[in-house]
Amino acid sequence: MSTNQTATPASIDIFSQLQQHDHEKLVFCQDEHTGLKAIIAIHNTVLGPGLGGTRIWNYANDADAINDVLRLSRGMTYKAAISGLNLGGAKAVIIGDAKTIKTEALMRKFGRFVENLNGKYITAEDVNTTTRDMEYVNMETSHVVGLPESMGGGGDPSPVTAYGTYMGMKATVKHVYGNESLTGKKVAVQGIGKVGGHLLEHLHKEGAKLYISDINEEMLARFAKMYGATVVNGDDIYSTDAEIFAPCALGAILNTENINKLKCKVIAGAANNQLADENVHGPMLVEKGIAYAPDFLINAGGLINVYQEHIGYNRDTAFRNTEHIYNVTLDIMKAAEKSGTHTQKAAIEMAEKRIHDILKVRSTY
Ligand code: NAD
Repeated sequence: MSTNQTATPASIDIFSQLQQHDHEKLVFCQDEHTGLKAIIAIHNTVLGPGLGGTRIWNYANDADAINDVLRLSRGMTYKAAISGLNLGGAKAVIIGDAKTIKTEALMRKFGRFVENLNGKYITAEDVNTTTRDMEYVNMETSHVVGLPESMGGGGDPSPVTAYGTYMGMKATVKHVYGNESLTGKKVAVQGIGKVGGHLLEHLHKEGAKLYISDINEEMLARFAKMYGATVVNGDDIYSTDAEIFAPCALGAILNTENINKLKCKVIAGAANNQLADENVHGPMLVEKGIAYAPDFLINAGGLINVYQEHIGYNRDTAFRNTEHIYNVTLDIMKAAEKSGTHTQKAAIEMAEKRIHDILKVRSTY
């Protein structure tokens, strides 16, 4: 024992964190040579290998990184389960500032760690990682998706995500208005990036009246001209007099303050984790008479796309399977109404039921 050893720091009770939501595995990856510090969380592999992207983030401390990777991997389990995919949920985080730490060697070393899990974890791109990074990962492991089309991958998932969001929106509109048509409906889209931009194209084609907000002025001007959309300033998007609100930028925007401003009847957008606190804001939307299309269901097109890549890529099949989001959204709307709960809860219950049912099938194999 070295003489300058410091006292043991206050412990983080990792096992009770894993037990809280029944995570299967948490893998810590460290490499001094490349500076890699990564954590891979595998939440549940009943339905298949855990798939989830790798996020690079400069966490304030290790506990924050652990919290994030546990939360995100659990979300992936639900997303895969509700989408009818034979995939489990997992996620990885690499700790550090992407601008300074990201190198070919670091990504390849991370790929070695993924390879060591023998396919129990399949990685993909996420915040601060790109297709190019996944190419480096792919030099060390085949357990990676989200590769460019030139390498047999599925390319940019955003058009598929946007299509699924559009399907989820139409189903929610059908539930609320009795028919799915968006012709003449006013839709307020927050964030017109990769997904929001493609969503606008579908909405415009169907004759919706569009309201858009973004922090990128140049894109606002371009889309306003292209689709005759009305530009809305910043947070005014919440109080826009539109029947439908589509959050396609940031998470946690459905908080008490913003929900109080909403005039819409339907919320259907692609952003991840829209409800600031699902136990508070899910019921609050029900009380306000707003139908909320669960984000993890209607933005699953991207996951459906990479799943296709995992089993042999075909773009048409990816779009066809994404269309199924329409029926599942309708089922969830009805289930939530019947049981008097909010849609996010109904969707989680439906995902959990599928895992539970398949667990019985596989345990008898
Ligand atoms: P993106 O970065 O291309 O687009 C996001 C847009 O939001 C940008 O144009 C940005 O300028 C804008 N924005 C940022 N802050 C804003 C604010 N305060 N108000 C209004 N606009 C703001 O990202 P994306 O790929 O289009 O993803 C959008 C959302 O959908 C994200 O939450 C993402 O996690 C989620 N999502 C994306 C995919 C996918 O396939 N790309 C899949 C599932 C979920």
